Amino acid sequence: MKIAVVRETAPGETRVAASPETVKKFIGLGAEVAVESGAGEAASVPDAEYEAAGATVGPRDKLLGDADIILAINGPDAGTLAGAKSGALLVGALDPMRRREAIDAYAGAGLEALAMEWMPRITRAQSMDILSSQSNLAGYKAVVDGAAVYGRAFPMMMTAAGTVSAARVFVMGVGVAGLQAIATARRLGAQVSATDVRSATKEQIQSLGAKPIFVENVAGIEGEGSGGYATEMSEEYQKAQAELVSGHIAKQDIVITTALIPGRPAPRLISDAQLASMRPGSVVVDLAADAGGNVEGCVPGENVVKHGVTIIGATNLARSLAADSSALFSRNLFNFLSAFWDKDQGKLVLPDDDEIVKAIRLTQGGKVVSERLLGA
Ligand code: NAD
Repeated sequence: MKIAVVRETAPGETRVAASPETVKKFIGLGAEVAVESGAGEAASVPDAEYEAAGATVGPRDKLLGDADIILAINGPDAGTLAGAKSGALLVGALDPMRRREAIDAYAGAGLEALAMEWMPRITRAQSMDILSSQSNLAGYKAVVDGAAVYGRAFPMMMTAAGTVSAARVFVMGVGVAGLQAIATARRLGAQVSATDVRSATKEQIQSLGAKPIFVENVAGIEGEGSGGYATEMSEEYQKAQAELVSGHIAKQDIVITTALIPGRPAPRLISDAQLASMRPGSVVVDLAADAGGNVEGCVPGENVVKHGVTIIGATNLARSLAADSSALFSRNLFNFLSAFWDKDQGKLVLPDDDEIVKAIRLTQGGKVVSERLLGA
């Protein structure tokens, strides 16, 4: 099987869908790998490293023609894949809900599109989950970016000139990104507290040495929604949460918000009045900026100062750690493809009835086949 790795063209994209390590591993499975010239440049991987790993490097039109599998971070426009053969697989973060026309175009071009972000949340698929691998890095970077803007130090320091007190960090939303944000803030020496609607997170917060701040009088999500995701909370819960947050937030220096509800706008967790209660110089990093924001007044991709508080509208933080985010994304792709690699036949076999295949396959045989997409 021939695998082609395309260079990303989306503005601001720095990542690449294969690393020299995964190139070697694909070759170990018996595949041939071709990488588009310059594909790894922004992730600090020169063409020569791909060549040393055993890949050929060349312009896109030279690699697409005989590729059986095309690997990408973002879904390329179908027009830029002209020349790819019918039946070739396109694997990446294809953003199916927001790029429906592009998905139809993949079907029209005879490509079999596989959306990695729709990987089901089952144990077997954990190592293939691009949302987790990228969110983990984003959680780390949110704290580092917040610390860079914060005009004070994170750890308590006792110096001859006097004592610097520890920063107080509050993490709202304790999924993959939130857990890494807690761990990172703790490593930097901050006093950390955190909240979520899923009661299972309480123990996780404590195990990282942070203080759980939870609505106690109204029930949260005990058993969790499907796949461990949260669902929208009742009005009563939202009111209780707002009161709890109001009391807590005025004493915080850095707030990291990561709360998301699949298929819904991000829940509003911090109002303008709550921002105004924080001390000037405080920083709020809103990781839900792209999904509408957890913080009132947040602008995606920008730093906005309100009441002396900087709101960082964090978008695509994983891109700012291009080498690591590429390495992890690449491994997710390899883990997925290698799990379906038939060693005897020396090729990829995707069974129609497999839970993973059913969840991520968008197009096949010239048609959109994803039930989720057709039902949307
Ligand atoms: P996410 O990005 O969808 O949401 C982030 C967090 O925000 C979640 O913890 C959610 O409960 C929380 N949240 C939503 N509404 C909120 C509100 N109003 N107030 C406060 N918090 C709110 O979640 P995620 O990071 O993708 O992870 C969610 C869960 O799924 C975790 O338990 C994670 O371990 C699990 N997970 C499992 C797998 C797998 O098994 N393959 C893969 C990834 C994640």
